[in-house]
Amino acid sequence: MKEKINKDKFKKSIDNLMSIYQQISDSAIESSKWRCPYKNANNLCTANFGCKNQKKINQQPLPVCTGSDKLDYRSAWEL
Ligand code: SF4
Repeated sequence: MKEKINKDKFKKSIDNLMSIYQQISDSAIESSKWRCPYKNANNLCTANFGCKNQKKINQQPLPVCTGSDKLDYRSAWEL
């Protein structure tokens, strides 16, 4: 037997989910002001252009990002 959907419970659940997504979005926007969007979680550079902060290490496929998260990273980009 099918269970009826409780609209109030469904709406509350969707609102809660949207609140969680909003917090994730707000956090991403805030961190993008100081952390380069091309720096991955392992501090490796994923950019497909040159940057003065890239340091290639032997066989490693991605260069290490040596940029400081305290400075504006965009001035190092070589576009
Ligand atoms: S600052 Fe430069 S080296 Fe660092 S992740 Fe961004 S583009 Fe890559």
